[in-house]
Amino acid sequence: MIEYQTLEHDVLVIGAGGAGLSAAVKASGAGAKVGVLSKSLLGKAHTVMAEGGVAAAMGNVDSRDSWKVHFADTMRGGQYLNHWRMAQLHAQEAPDRVRELEQWGALFDRTKEGDILQRNFGGHRYPRLAHVGDRTGLEMIRTLQDHGIHQGIDFHMEVTVLTLLKDGERIAGVFGYDRERGRFRLFRAKAVILATGGIGRAYKITSNSWEYTGDGHALAYHAGAELLDMEFVQFHPTGMVWPPSVRGILVTEGVRGEGGVLRNKEGKRFMFDDIPPLYKGQTADNEEEGWRYTQGDKEARRPPELLTRDHVARCIQREVREGRGSPHGGVFLDIAWIKERLPNGAEVIKRKLPSMYHQFKQLGDIDITKDPMEVGPTTHYMMGGVKVDPDSQMCAVPGLFAAGECAAGLHGANRLGGNSLSDLLVFGSRAGEYAAKYAKDLKAGSVDETQLEAAARLALEPFERTGGESPYAVQYELQDMMQEKVGIVRLETEMTQAVEEIAKLRQRADKVFVPGNREYNNGWHTALDLPNLLTVSELIARAASDRKESRGAHFRDDYPEKSAECAKFNIVLHKGPDGRPVLTRTPLTEMPADLKQIIEEMK
Ligand SMILES: Cc1cc2nc3c(=O)[nH]c(=O)nc-3n(C[C@H](O)[C@H](O)[C@H](O)COP(=O)(O)OP(=O)(O)OC[C@H]3O[C@@H](n4cnc5c(N)ncnc54)[C@H](O)[C@@H]3O)c2cc1C
Repeated sequence: MIEYQTLEHDVLVIGAGGAGLSAAVKASGAGAKVGVLSKSLLGKAHTVMAEGGVAAAMGNVDSRDSWKVHFADTMRGGQYLNHWRMAQLHAQEAPDRVRELEQWGALFDRTKEGDILQRNFGGHRYPRLAHVGDRTGLEMIRTLQDHGIHQGIDFHMEVTVLTLLKDGERIAGVFGYDRERGRFRLFRAKAVILATGGIGRAYKITSNSWEYTGDGHALAYHAGAELLDMEFVQFHPTGMVWPPSVRGILVTEGVRGEGGVLRNKEGKRFMFDDIPPLYKGQTADNEEEGWRYTQGDKEARRPPELLTRDHVARCIQREVREGRGSPHGGVFLDIAWIKERLPNGAEVIKRKLPSMYHQFKQLGDIDITKDPMEVGPTTHYMMGGVKVDPDSQMCAVPGLFAAGECAAGLHGANRLGGNSLSDLLVFGSRAGEYAAKYAKDLKAGSVDETQLEAAARLALEPFERTGGESPYAVQYELQDMMQEKVGIVRLETEMTQAVEEIAKLRQRADKVFVPGNREYNNGWHTALDLPNLLTVSELIARAASDRKESRGAHFRDDYPEKSAECAKFNIVLHKGPDGRPVLTRTPLTEMPADLKQIIEEMK
């Protein structure tokens, strides 16, 4: 007989990042009794790291902007595999969600007229990112959690969910443990919202926090949900490459938005050499025009450094591969050069990019107002995730909702920078609203005690083994393998090997040994994260292997072109009756004529 504490809520939110907090605030505002669980302390969820800003077509800096342009940009960025309805709702509702955040106390940077200031970012036609210096995520989390606490939401910090519980088909709650003492907890709930973020820790080089072990993706998959677009993993072009201990840490796109340029070791701005046809008309063809764009000239077109992330990342990789990289295997990102144009350039850099200034000073002993940074691609964002209804965010399991990075559909083959924070606000809020509606007047489902016993026994197994491997060894091998075989450039043979190696790693993960006891035992936490990492890695490899073309973030050396056939479907995976993944190519839903027309007009 296992011991556990039981708690009850109408709506339970797993995750205290931007999506989870937005959902909790809305569900609680609708009258539901809401609980929020988080692996980390409140205020430490990954969203806090977001830097550049939140995309919303408010038109404060350029009045030509509108939801229609934002919609068209998002669809183009996602190479038209996005769910059009999500892209439409997102573009239409993001401005209101940003203003709401402001009403709740968020202090955005301002234009001279006192409006919320908006900055340029890759793939956005007009300056669109509302921001707070380069610490936008921090302000978002601070505001949402202050608001949530005052609404009486229950927060359960440092609790990891191990499994979702069902009563028949519908969701009935979750089972997990507190990371401090290792004690089990049962949370009964009428509706559950997954807001668990991404999967970056499946890779060796990543900008993502330790929380990003794909838990929500794996929990949903095992509970019977469908996962969509798992092949689309975004590699951000600019992560730190030196020193090795900080490799992968993000260098915000805001640096390029403020005039930063990419150069190879020969000093050449190589991005001008390769502008994709889809963006030719919108991209500057000379350095002068690019500079004017970053300084707000409405007649100028964006510099090629602000092309979409997938493309910039591959161009950097090409420079490195062809021997034109920087000493530590990246390229140079130079913002210091703006002093040639702006007499107070150093001051501008420190004011607009304070975190970047401190990050490089403290971690790399580099003064970015004087010297260029060395940067290279880093695993950054997961476009793939739980397949949800675009309006309500409910997935195939009744009562189970998903929002934020662990859900899918909005971004298609590639996410535009800034479109995640707005995604969290728009679809987090929607998930909260619809989950509260779903839970209203519903009786709590019953929980099967044997399911709890089994989950607890499985979780404690690593302590009971007398010998075996460390979970860290298996995790490191998985990360190396994913980086090498299912990374930025992919090949059929390597991905087939990856699937085979994951199966072997899974067998090893089943036998890991953890010394010590349940109190604050990081080895134990890693052992429990491992199955989730392995599940998402396998699904990524299988989907990537099935998509026989290059599109957005997914680049295949053996199929380097886009295929018209592959433009017609999304890849969906679910767990089959024998426990193995079942892959389906699902045709895209037909876009209504008025939205098609918007896309045509914006080309
Ligand atoms: C350095 C950096 C900068 C970025 N800058 C920007 C930007 O400027 N603009 C933009 O739009 N996007 C940006 N992004 C992306 C964006 O920050 C993320 O996509 C977004 O914050 C994800 O939010 P979320 O609410 O989905 O998840 P998160 O904020 O990651 O929250 C996940 C929550 O789930 C919890 N959790 C996970 N698993 C479990 C479990 N098993 N049990 C219990 N709790 C669990 C975690 O503890 C956490 O509380 C950036 C990303 C990085 C890495």
